[in-house]
Amino acid sequence: MFYLIAVCEVPEAPLNEQPAGWLGVDLGIVNIATVDGMTRFTGRGLNRHRKRQLELRRKLQAKATQSARRRLKHRRRKEQRHAANVNHIISKKIVTEAARTCSGIALEDLGGIRDRVRLRKPQRVTLHSWAFRQLGTFLAYKARRAGVPLVYVDPAYTSQECAECHHIDKNNRVSQALFICRNCGVVAHADRNASRNIAARGEVAWIAGRESRVPATP
Ligand SMILES: [Zn+2]
Repeated sequence: MFYLIAVCEVPEAPLNEQPAGWLGVDLGIVNIATVDGMTRFTGRGLNRHRKRQLELRRKLQAKATQSARRRLKHRRRKEQRHAANVNHIISKKIVTEAARTCSGIALEDLGGIRDRVRLRKPQRVTLHSWAFRQLGTFLAYKARRAGVPLVYVDPAYTSQECAECHHIDKNNRVSQALFICRNCGVVAHADRNASRNIAARGEVAWIAGRESRVPATP
């Protein structure tokens, strides 16, 4: 068998130093990625796929023969390919939208994902933190290639903070999908509200970063 290894140099677009706005990417289980102003990327297809794979895997694991092990490995790879494909599609759409609107992309600092998403045990299997990390990686390299600025922000309270008045209260999030601010009464889709918070933090982080890059005047 022969392998051809080709190195392909893709020219990078110059970085947009003054983004006109920010797209905040909220990551989750029900909605893999939510960006305010864009169609939500639901995890429905992906979660269903994973559940089916998991059931098949259980059956195969019970067998524990060599051929079952081989098939398990095959299934795991298939699942990873599927998730990678979904991540490519999502990241491409977000970066294209950012480039089109001359915006930057704000991403939650992925170290915090595991702590933030606390789930009951049966749901935990649907959360593969590597898939989120991979989405972050794809976004970062596609953004760099397109000259789209990308910043990481602190994910703390992005789902509890009101994007309108910035009041933080865990009761603001009424249900999985619904956000109602206890202070100003604004009603929003919970993930869209979070996306706006992430976008706002992105802008702050970008400005702070730019100021630190500018040499201080004596
Ligand atoms: Zn409010």
